[in-house]
Amino acid sequence: MSDCCGTPKPTNEASCCCGSDAEKIVLLYACSGGANVGEISDKAARELMFEGKGTMFCLAGLGGDIQGMVQTARDADVNLVIDGCPMDCAKKAFDRHGITNYTQIKVTDLGIEKVKGVRCTDEQVGQVVTVAREKLAEQTV
Ligand code: SF4
Repeated sequence: MSDCCGTPKPTNEASCCCGSDAEKIVLLYACSGGANVGEISDKAARELMFEGKGTMFCLAGLGGDIQGMVQTARDADVNLVIDGCPMDCAKKAFDRHGITNYTQIKVTDLGIEKVKGVRCTDEQVGQVVTVAREKLAEQTV
């Protein structure tokens, strides 16, 4: 991570040390499923990370019961969970561990159809990124 005012950069703009003394830890999780909506979730999470909105974290770590990673999710200020479809795989991983400090986006809720064997488009990824920015802005004020 790059520096902000000489200190490690916070994971989101709202908590930049230039404007606030409270740094928030924002983690981004994608279901990264095999269908187009899973690809969208993955690309959106990476886009948000490279925008500096948070740090992408491994959902499989929760599924695999890696205790350090479970604790990291528990300790975060905000976990943004991006699921591709109503199967809610990422959300269920959080629920199974009793982790409640998350907010979820479901790609199919945005009118994007789940289809296997096709690539997602940049526009679809952008659609999710836009909604995610809004959710994160609400969560990190
Ligand atoms: S939420 Fe849907 S797209 Fe994502 S991994 Fe589960 S079944 Fe696949």
